[in-house]
Amino acid sequence: MKIRNRLNPSNPCFSFEFFPPKTDEGVANLFKTLEDLAPLQPGFVSVTYGAGGSTRDRTVELVTRIKQETGIEAMAHLTCVGHTREELRELLKRLADAKLDNVLVLRGDPPQGEKTFVAPAGGFKYATELVRFIREEDFNFCLGGACYPEGHVETGSRDDDLRHLKEKVDAGLDFVVTQLFFDNAFYFDFVERARRAGINVPIVPGIMPITNYEQIQRFTRMCGATVPMRLALQLERVKDQPDALVQLGVAHATVQCMELLSRGVPGIHFYTLNKSPATRMIVSALRARS
Ligand code: FAD
Repeated sequence: MKIRNRLNPSNPCFSFEFFPPKTDEGVANLFKTLEDLAPLQPGFVSVTYGAGGSTRDRTVELVTRIKQETGIEAMAHLTCVGHTREELRELLKRLADAKLDNVLVLRGDPPQGEKTFVAPAGGFKYATELVRFIREEDFNFCLGGACYPEGHVETGSRDDDLRHLKEKVDAGLDFVVTQLFFDNAFYFDFVERARRAGINVPIVPGIMPITNYEQIQRFTRMCGATVPMRLALQLERVKDQPDALVQLGVAHATVQCMELLSRGVPGIHFYTLNKSPATRMIVSALRARS
């Protein structure tokens, strides 16, 4: 199933993102998590692509297994990092042979300690180039890409970032998924600017329920997402009380999602970090309302 056909404001789909576990036990836990989430009827799940090393192979293995064993549509993320175009072609061929219909096409981050992304020898510098390559190679995938309501961390200006996003969409994306955000105003403003710039594909909001104080500090530093002052103060107050922190994180994300749904988003993508309880609570509450 092509994900673009599931993104519909009158019947929005919930999707869940996982990263490939390093161990077989982790993989078994992931399948248990999927079992827990299945009753919530995810529109699709996606599996991230590591910066390098052994987990990369696991992405292709996992999406293949998820689709075959659970029947849930599974999308592989793919990055340009460390790959030649031949290697990328090979990976795409494996996904096509496994009858997978969707790929999230990304550039990936510069290696740790480096500020700028250098194209690998024989590879690509921007996600747009990989999108173009996939379209030219005649693969029949539905393609997603990333976008940044608050601007990508490396960009000089949000207008430049939006112009680059337009190029990426025009190269052949069917939908985009946003970086996480905690203030819906960023999303609504971004969608408005994107539409004005002629970007007409579905823009799926990405939501990460806060479940760990240090982790959220680290993520927001890395991706540049703003934590609204009131939320930051509330988090500070409960940072040493794990249960209260999760309750706050779930409550905040639920309120965010309710507003997003009431304003007609085509779906909501949850960054689950391989933990289902918080996401399950949020989606159960949302389903109970609809
Ligand atoms: P691009 O779209 O290539 O943009 C990167 C930067 O280059 C931007 O600042 C953009 O404005 C600029 N740019 C683009 N085109 C041009 C141009 N022609 N000239 C000058 N500048 C240009 N990372 C992983 O490693 N694995 C994952 O699985 C993964 N999944 C993700 C899923 C989502 C939904 C999101 C939002 C991010 C994900 N990331 C993942 C992180 C992502 O790889 C990083 O944010 C990365 O830094 C940028 O990737 P991109 O595809 O957005 O890059």
